[in-house]
Amino acid sequence: MSDDLHEVYAIKYGHHHRRAAENYIGGDPHDIAQPLDFFVWAIVGAHGTVLVDTGFDEAMGRRRQRAIINPVGAGLKAIGIEPDTVKDVIISHLHYDHSGNYDLFPQARYHLQDDEMAYATGRCMCHAHLRLPFEADDVVAMVRKVFAGRVVFHDGDDLVHPGITLHRIGGHSKGLQCVRVNTRRGPVVLASDAAHLYAHLAEGRIFPITYNVGEVLEGYATLKRLAPSPDHIVPGHDPLVLDRYPAARSGLDGWVARLDAERGAG
Ligand SMILES: [Zn+2]
Ligand SMILES: [Zn+2]
Repeated sequence: MSDDLHEVYAIKYGHHHRRAAENYIGGDPHDIAQPLDFFVWAIVGAHGTVLVDTGFDEAMGRRRQRAIINPVGAGLKAIGIEPDTVKDVIISHLHYDHSGNYDLFPQARYHLQDDEMAYATGRCMCHAHLRLPFEADDVVAMVRKVFAGRVVFHDGDDLVHPGITLHRIGGHSKGLQCVRVNTRRGPVVLASDAAHLYAHLAEGRIFPITYNVGEVLEGYATLKRLAPSPDHIVPGHDPLVLDRYPAARSGLDGWVARLDAERGAG
């Protein structure tokens, strides 16, 4: 495999039951269950493992009443990745479900947008509504990493390694970024919370936790521009991801999916 082609995995660690109406500004006319899954994503290639987001741990799951199905570290080990060997962690944004487990990757440097750190440490956090998806301990842990020389700041689009690029989206959180990865089936775009569910992207609908609605909608256009087809965009919280892609290995069905494989290939 050439050095700019990578394997990509979606690793589910948690689950949360909720009604469809809770997933959209303006609610939903269908009174049905529409649960969210929680994922981290691993990019594996010539430059080692690049992790996208770090999830949350059992204690945070209890605090936020979200179920941990398998801890993040266990999911990584299931595909042969030792957390303490990970050298790069991309943080899509600093919400509690994307930036916890902050001591699990002692060797990693963390890639973050300037805007996200400014947002999570600035005046907007004086407002309860805006700070709701953030945890002070997660943000403080990131500040400590800045002082330890372990944070790489990005402003807009940037390159992490050949074949791995970052793209600032904003919208859901002020400095939210997505990740585009070159793979054997073409570029795969890890949307993270730039699109929580396939339905948000397909129908132009908005998740209730939002900093800027206009940027969310522009973000959908950006995701589509970055990907060769809608099938190359991976939403951040959709349980359908694990149905649409094959398991990474036998025994990992419903837990770890291989995103650089053709859909329905296994
Ligand atoms: Zn979020
Ligand atoms: Zn999220």
